[in-house]
Amino acid sequence: MHEAFFYEKKDNNRVQCRLCPKICTIKEGKAGFCRVRRNYSGILYAVNYGQVSSYGLDPIEKKPLYHFYPGSYIFSLGTVGCNLRCGFCQNWEIAHGEPDTVDFSPARVVETARKQAARGYPSIGIAYTYSEPFMWYEFVMDTARLAGEAGLKNVLVTNGYVNEQPLKQILPYIDAMNIDVKGFTEDYYRKKCTGRLEPVMRTVEVARRECHVELTTLLVTGLNDSPGEIERLVDWVASLDANIPLHFSRYFPNYQVNLPSTPLATLNQAREIARKKLSYVYIGNAPELNADDTPCPQCGRVVLERSGYRVRATGTDGRNCQYCGREIRLIGDVRK
Ligand code: SF4
Ligand code: SF4
Ligand SMILES: [Zn+2]
Repeated sequence: MHEAFFYEKKDNNRVQCRLCPKICTIKEGKAGFCRVRRNYSGILYAVNYGQVSSYGLDPIEKKPLYHFYPGSYIFSLGTVGCNLRCGFCQNWEIAHGEPDTVDFSPARVVETARKQAARGYPSIGIAYTYSEPFMWYEFVMDTARLAGEAGLKNVLVTNGYVNEQPLKQILPYIDAMNIDVKGFTEDYYRKKCTGRLEPVMRTVEVARRECHVELTTLLVTGLNDSPGEIERLVDWVASLDANIPLHFSRYFPNYQVNLPSTPLATLNQAREIARKKLSYVYIGNAPELNADDTPCPQCGRVVLERSGYRVRATGTDGRNCQYCGREIRLIGDVRK
């Protein structure tokens, strides 16, 4: 356990957690909505500090990050707990269940990632992923600092549901983020995710000024996949930066939602809408659509070709399109 950051003491040994927009007021002996910040004797603790529920070496494309060291690997780990409760959660066993955990210190995480890089894997650093990384904020902060000093990259795969002050304090240590924008109406966030859209939009707007950002939207059949909603999402992303990569992901029935999988036609339609205004649009979880390659936004020829998680630079030197010279948004080299 580790004393939590970002909380205020209240009367009767109650505390108020200010890490995320839920701003839970927590009585003595109780936990917040996320289950992993608990009040003991008027002090708020992060009870999952160093408690790792899953870890492994993953392709960076799996996060998904397609424009950040393409073709590389990254040591990935996650904890338990989440501050949202999406009915379609794909990680509910660790987000909402009681999985076994193993204890890691920040130094052990960094050492593991360094050893993987030293063994010849094209591993670039550490990804905090699988469930919600802001739910073990203190551990991520300690680990990311050490990792940065060791020359490793730090990546967050997050729902973006965090308050502005904690976000701004951790961003100097973060190199890239994939942020879920789960839908583009307040109604959807409230009814399907127990959250709000506006704080997630703010997270994207703040983060993209400080680190590399890609976005993911899981299109859930009939719930958030209408052309009008996609258009509003795309207009907003384009108003920030048309070069932010956007990944539409195919939904399959899971957890509490049992709808038909997203039709392939719906995914294609979303991609067509998005490509009118955004440079880089992908479809995940649907290999039959072959929507993983990166075409040059200007001449349309493929510059990065993906097959599974393997990447080949077929038309770029890592900076520009070799056919028309247009700059391609890429952070880091393309790993072979
Ligand atoms: S981090 Fe957890 S305890 Fe803190 S406000 Fe969010 S849900 Fe509540
Ligand atoms: S934010 Fe992610 S981990 Fe949390 S409930 Fe939603 S889908 Fe599950
Ligand atoms: Zn080109």
